[in-house]
Amino acid sequence: MWQKQGIREQHYVEREFTDCIKQHRVTSDTKLREFQFKLLNRYLVTNDFLNKIGVLTSPACSFCGKENESLEHILISCHYAKDFWAQVIKWLCNLKVNVNSHAWNAGL
Ligand SMILES: [Zn+2]
Repeated sequence: MWQKQGIREQHYVEREFTDCIKQHRVTSDTKLREFQFKLLNRYLVTNDFLNKIGVLTSPACSFCGKENESLEHILISCHYAKDFWAQVIKWLCNLKVNVNSHAWNAGL
């Protein structure tokens, strides 16, 4: 029963993965697609999670060490993430890509 349920669940996850990639395909790179799937499904492992399950003794951010390393912190609110996104915006602007900097700056 457990094995049958596990296989059914695995098929469901694989179908969800395929549907998700088809809807939001941005790259053919397998690693990027895997990262996108994990991000969209909040499946990325953070120090906050590893601390909760007892793998790490501290939930602190791997980069700044000041806040708990949640998905939101490591991708948006950490000052290292903000610097990264600022560099990405600068790079895109240099390539003449139309970036609504006001919306980005408001979030960053
Ligand atoms: Zn941080």
